[in-house]
Amino acid sequence: MTDSYPENREEVEITAADGVENDSPPKAEETEVLNCAQCQVTITGGEEIRTDNAVFCPRCYDDIKNVLHDSLAEQSQNINYPGAVAGGLLGGLMAALIWWGFVTVTNIQFGLVAVIIGWAAGKGVLILSGHKRAQSLQLIAVGLTLISYGMATYWVSRTFIHQYFAENDLVGSLPLFPPPALFMDVVSTGFQLFDVIFLAIALWQAWKMPAPFVLKTGD
Ligand SMILES: [Zn+2]
Repeated sequence: MTDSYPENREEVEITAADGVENDSPPKAEETEVLNCAQCQVTITGGEEIRTDNAVFCPRCYDDIKNVLHDSLAEQSQNINYPGAVAGGLLGGLMAALIWWGFVTVTNIQFGLVAVIIGWAAGKGVLILSGHKRAQSLQLIAVGLTLISYGMATYWVSRTFIHQYFAENDLVGSLPLFPPPALFMDVVSTGFQLFDVIFLAIALWQAWKMPAPFVLKTGD
């Protein structure tokens, strides 16, 4: 047994040199061959870095990570803040008008439609900020959704108040853009329990729209 061992070892080495498939060192049969998904180099010594769907050599992995870091940093740079505010107002108020129109025409106060206010405000912020993503933009989107939602609620209540006036031969009208005190009065009387849920969904829509992409790595 002891004599035959070196012979066998030589044979193995010769076979490995004959098969010129790759220059990887001879390995035990059970070791799987790992090639970098980027540069195809064979990875030895357990240096491979596994991601969810690929294996990379350390050099390529660092390269890819740096590129991703750079592009992720770029998403929050050179933000057009005036554009973000204008876009959020535009989107939010347009959606508020659509909701108001829907309620006025159908006479159904279908609160779930209000959710589009958050979506539209977030979308407006995202587009007119220069397709940027940052927490500051998330806060802007949420703030403008609150304002737009408040305006929508005011406009809907205003319409019903005017209907009530007309049906009861009362004289009076509310301005389209109210002073703050009147705004708070009307909105607080028109606000119902369900509105809290719809407002929460709308705010969530706005919050996640310009949310920055996050790189999940070990470090
Ligand atoms: Zn590689």
